[in-house]
Amino acid sequence: MNVVIVVLGKPVKNWKCTYEVCEASCCKIQREVTISDIKRIVELTGKKPGDFISITSGYMPYALKRKDGRCVFLRNNYQCDLHDLEAKPILCKMYPFMLQKIAYGDEPIMFIKPVADCPGYGEGPLFTEEILSDIRKQGQTYVIELRKMAGYRNQGIKPEEIMQKEL
Ligand code: SF4
Ligand code: SF4
Repeated sequence: MNVVIVVLGKPVKNWKCTYEVCEASCCKIQREVTISDIKRIVELTGKKPGDFISITSGYMPYALKRKDGRCVFLRNNYQCDLHDLEAKPILCKMYPFMLQKIAYGDEPIMFIKPVADCPGYGEGPLFTEEILSDIRKQGQTYVIELRKMAGYRNQGIKPEEIMQKEL
C-alpha cells in the first residue's frame, strides 16, 4: 500500500529536541501507540502491556498511560525512559512533527506539521532530507498499522482481543 506523507508548515532548518527548556511539552499529550510499538516496549523493557497501555475509543485504540498529566515513561528530569533502549513509539520518533490528520482515498494521506513554539528550532544539526525521509517512513508504518487495526475493528474484534492476538 502506498501512503503519501504531506508535510505542512514552514520547513525546519536546524533542530534539536531541547526537552529541558519546554519541560518535554510533547510528552504531556495523549500518545497513541501501535501494536508494533507495544511489542517493542514489552521486549525491551520487560514490562507487561497493562503496565503502560490504556485502551481508548480512538481509531488507534492504544495510548501510553499518563501520570500527573504526562507520559508514564517521562522521568522527573524530562528524559524519556525508552530513549536509550531505542524503544520509543513511532509518533515519538517523528518529533518535532506531529500528526495532523489522515485522509483516505485511493491511497491514504498522512498530514504532519512541525509542533508550534518548539524551542529546539534553530538549535542543533541541520535538519536534512534524510531525517525527513526517515520521519516519512515512520509515518507510513503508522498508517499501515492503523489500516490493519481498522480491519480488526471492522470484524468486531475488541482492542483487548487484538492485543492478545498480536502479542
Ligand atoms: S520537539 Fe520541541 S516542543 Fe517537543 S519536546 Fe522536543 S523541544 Fe519540546
Ligand atoms: S514515550 Fe518517551 S518520548 Fe514518547 S511521550 Fe513518552 S516520554 Fe515522551
